[in-house]
Amino acid sequence: ENKDQKFVYDFTEGNKELKDLLGGKGANLAEMTNLGLPVPPGFTITTEACKVYLESGEEPAELRDEVSAHLDALEQTMGKKLGQADNPLLVSVRSGAKFSMPGMMDTVLNIGLSDESVAGLAQQAGDERFAWDSYRRLIQMFGKTVLGVDGELFEDALDEAKAAKKVTVDTDLDAADLKKLVKQFKKIVKAEAGRDFPQDPREQMDLAICSVFESWNTDRAKLYRRQERIPGDLGTAVNICSMVFGNLGPDSGTGVAFTRDPASGHQGVYGDYLQNAQGEDVVAGIRNTVPLADLESIDKKSYDQLMQIMETLENHYKDLCDIEFTIERGQLWMLQTRVGKRTAGAAFRIATQLVDQGLIDEAEALQRVNGAQLAQLMFPRFDEKAKTELLGRGIAASPGAAVGKAVFDSYTAVKWSRSGEKVILIRRETNPDDLDGMIAAEGILTSRGGKTSHAAVVARGMGKTCVCGAEELEVDTKRRRMTVNGTVIEEGDVVSVDGSTGRVYKGEVPVVPSPVVEYFEGRMHAGADDADELVQAVHRIMAYADRVRRLRVRANADNAEDALRARRFGAQGIGLCRTEHMFLGERREMVEKLILADTDDEREEALRALLPQQKQDFVELFEAMDGLPVTVRLLDPPLHEFLPDITELSVRVALAEARKDHNENDLRLLQAVHRLHEQNPMLGLRGVRLGLVIPGLFTMQVRAIAEAAAQRIEAKGDPRAEIMIPLVGTVQELEIVREEAEQVIAEVRQQTGIDLKLALGTMIELPRAALTAGQIAEAAEFFSFGTNDLTQTVWGFSRDDVEASFFTAYLEKGIFGVSPFETIDKDGVGSLVRSAVEAGRATRPDLKLGVCGEHGGDPESVHFFHEVGLDYVSCSPFRIPVARLEAGRAAA
Ligand code: PEP
Ligand code: MG
Repeated sequence: ENKDQKFVYDFTEGNKELKDLLGGKGANLAEMTNLGLPVPPGFTITTEACKVYLESGEEPAELRDEVSAHLDALEQTMGKKLGQADNPLLVSVRSGAKFSMPGMMDTVLNIGLSDESVAGLAQQAGDERFAWDSYRRLIQMFGKTVLGVDGELFEDALDEAKAAKKVTVDTDLDAADLKKLVKQFKKIVKAEAGRDFPQDPREQMDLAICSVFESWNTDRAKLYRRQERIPGDLGTAVNICSMVFGNLGPDSGTGVAFTRDPASGHQGVYGDYLQNAQGEDVVAGIRNTVPLADLESIDKKSYDQLMQIMETLENHYKDLCDIEFTIERGQLWMLQTRVGKRTAGAAFRIATQLVDQGLIDEAEALQRVNGAQLAQLMFPRFDEKAKTELLGRGIAASPGAAVGKAVFDSYTAVKWSRSGEKVILIRRETNPDDLDGMIAAEGILTSRGGKTSHAAVVARGMGKTCVCGAEELEVDTKRRRMTVNGTVIEEGDVVSVDGSTGRVYKGEVPVVPSPVVEYFEGRMHAGADDADELVQAVHRIMAYADRVRRLRVRANADNAEDALRARRFGAQGIGLCRTEHMFLGERREMVEKLILADTDDEREEALRALLPQQKQDFVELFEAMDGLPVTVRLLDPPLHEFLPDITELSVRVALAEARKDHNENDLRLLQAVHRLHEQNPMLGLRGVRLGLVIPGLFTMQVRAIAEAAAQRIEAKGDPRAEIMIPLVGTVQELEIVREEAEQVIAEVRQQTGIDLKLALGTMIELPRAALTAGQIAEAAEFFSFGTNDLTQTVWGFSRDDVEASFFTAYLEKGIFGVSPFETIDKDGVGSLVRSAVEAGRATRPDLKLGVCGEHGGDPESVHFFHEVGLDYVSCSPFRIPVARLEAGRAAA
């Protein structure tokens, strides 16, 4: 352990770059302090202290003294002591990790209040009711979070106090009522926690600090981290901040603001304000707020100052910031800022707006967006022309078009979604306990809370459709129904939620393609007068990405239609044409004949019948991709996949036998099915092995490719065919196939008189191929990494089975954060790719290198492939824009 390690930093000592150490909140409080903005003085305990605590179960030895020293300094600055009887300093103790985890960890306010100092606070504030209300809030929050008392007990006691007085709102309780409530709260603490509520302010503070440390490891925090892919070992910092009060009367209040609209990116005044309230009231969405713009008429001085601070922050952070502030008797205080979460669409718009404002350059703009956001923008949305039954309207908190059955609690949401139902989670408001329900739901709908309510913030972070604050909805979670202007929606009724407009519909509304897809399809032009801002922003960002990226992007496509779409989406060729898809449907019968052939003649006849069909496939494909490379892979899957299902066929044969109705062909088929049956077909007779044992199969395909290319050249086309051999494990396999292929190509050259150039290469999708890549490169002009099979064989995971069987358990146990079939396993599979790249290039410096497994369209994997020096990635047509963008981000 580092002897000079410092566990506590004053706000004046930190800065925004220290998020690892001070957490996001602490680092930004320090940054604002140093910018000269009005931040209540305080200090931050580092994430390192938290890590020591979580590992050893104790605070680090030096922490106590360091906290004492910083507390002394704070008391000096404030001119009062923590919990001092006649004039108490009160502090908040807030969690704050490197990455924001809204509402997931603990916070305790009003630390320093006790039976003695409550009177001092009353005098200081000139408001007895306020002092007792603050005290009861402390006992409630402290009891619940630090001492683990069931929060409902306090809520119930509060409700009873109101009922006894026949009032409905907290503010109708006076000092005497609150005094009684404090007594009762203390009794609850004693009974439930088995100890008195601590009267010593320093003990309160120390216990709260440990409780914040511990809240890093609550179940809901862990779940949130898994969902957001936040590492589990970062720990949280703890911020000790002198209290300011937004609940000291009508000239006080608290609010949340954005420097631009987090949904559209537009500049303006966005946020919510709540008069005479304390911080957490806004985020919890408990009372309805007013728009921030209204603050101008409530308190012009504070409003103007806030606007100026927002401008300072945007120019300083060069990005959208979100802010929490409090006004205490006309004095504005900044409680938090950070670079704010935003919708996918806003991310693109804001990035280009900031370029236009000269705040960031194009390379930085690329880092402000990502492929997952682009993918989200490509989702369909509701058809505006559809007949709809509008139920109500709320705040468009997180965009998307979600349709599903109404459910009113998280448990049902999870249960129904597990059984394959699409659900919409409908709540009055959500809280951190609703997290797994929110994950399970297609969309989230709440009747209360603003754009900064829990539901809105969390949904935006997850990219989930959310409408919040739809006040017309009367949500009755107990009876599992909601009523909207007389219409009743029961649990299980279908509703449609439009997170882009805030509209909520009864029944299922049909969806239409997104404008971004229309743009990629070429049906909407970015330059057109009516092109929306989003399309223009996407257009510009894609242009930046294309300008800087080194990786080329190809498509996995095996018909002209997909090839043409891929081209429109920006594909620079086809990286994988799986020819097995051409052997299905009506051609199955021909393949059956090939498999059943007893004699050379029969087999040759079957191949002769297939040849013209294959050739026509390739002519169409080469035409669609004219001028761009098309990698055609020779047949890969086990042959039995082309034969009828064994059970079905057995039944058919048995029935025929019973009827004494012999069908010679079915009998032969059944024999073939039995003969070809394999226990482990993915490790059996497939790929290059087929080419080696079925005479004429690969050469027929090579001939079809060569003749198709010749035909395209005769038609003045520019075919760039590449022939790819699958599942090669040793160079000898490749050499044999290569020799045969070259002979066929030479024949076609002769027959047509056309000087065909066809590259020949292989997939690297077996560990042995990767390990002997140097040898294999002797016989291959290109490698295409088949990371699906490579992942399957390196891990020994059946790609068809494991994701449904035990991956959930693996993900829950943290063995991996994401399926290795989705994101490349860099350490294992990736290291084989890396060494094969090096070995292949050492043998053949001009070896062309690509990847065509599913990972070719996965954002994180694309960065890896850029880094190891591949020439291209190949992915399904719809993922091409994402791959282009991520390739650009990797290079920028
Ligand atoms: C691969 O294995 O990664 C690959 C692209 O081939 P297929 O998915 O067809 O096995
Ligand atoms: Mg494969």
